[in-house]
Amino acid sequence: MKKPILFLVDDNSAVLNAVACDIKSNYRKEYRTIAPQSATEGLEALKELKNKGETVVLFIFIGARPYTDWIDIDIVRDKRGFVETGNALTHYEEFNKIWKLPRKPHLLETYSPGIFAAGDVRAGAMNWVASAVSEGGMAIKFVHEYLAEN
Ligand SMILES: Cc1cc2nc3c(=O)[nH]c(=O)nc-3n(C[C@H](O)[C@H](O)[C@H](O)COP(=O)(O)OP(=O)(O)OC[C@H]3O[C@@H](n4cnc5c(N)ncnc54)[C@H](O)[C@@H]3O)c2cc1C
Repeated sequence: MKKPILFLVDDNSAVLNAVACDIKSNYRKEYRTIAPQSATEGLEALKELKNKGETVVLFIFIGARPYTDWIDIDIVRDKRGFVETGNALTHYEEFNKIWKLPRKPHLLETYSPGIFAAGDVRAGAMNWVASAVSEGGMAIKFVHEYLAEN
């Protein structure tokens, strides 16, 4: 009998690939693993498997969606709504128009000097409890630096 298929779905390809790699290394003997890189690719693959009469177990990884619409200070959100911080801001066209300080933004600093973002809401966050907590601690250090310079 063919091994059943674990079918993995996530819109974050880094997370998806990491999970797929982990599952493959642990369950290769019992299961085959498929991790389509887009919803369209996933639906096509699922249809094909169904036509072949394959047994499929579907894994959906529930991610997080940031609630940042209500923030009415000067910040930049990426196209998914996560708050951009630090050096990433310099890649935005409007950076030179908006940022008036002689220094670059601190690591977790938003477009509004002295306002910091930490944890999952921040674009590029690691999405781990430990890193969210660490970023919170780092933000405090930058708050002190900001206060010292003003
Ligand atoms: C299904 C799932 C499984 C996970 N498993 C793990 C794991 O095994 N190990 C690991 O390290 N990480 C895991 N994570 C990731 C981890 O949960 C996050 O990285 C971490 O919780 C981020 O902390 P945070 O404080 O940035 O955000 P959150 O924990 O999301 O906290 C943000 C808080 O702000 C509140 N909030 C939002 N908007 C407002 C507002 N307008 N006003 C007031 N409050 C507001 C929210 O209700 C929430 O309580 C998992 C995440 C998910 C979704």
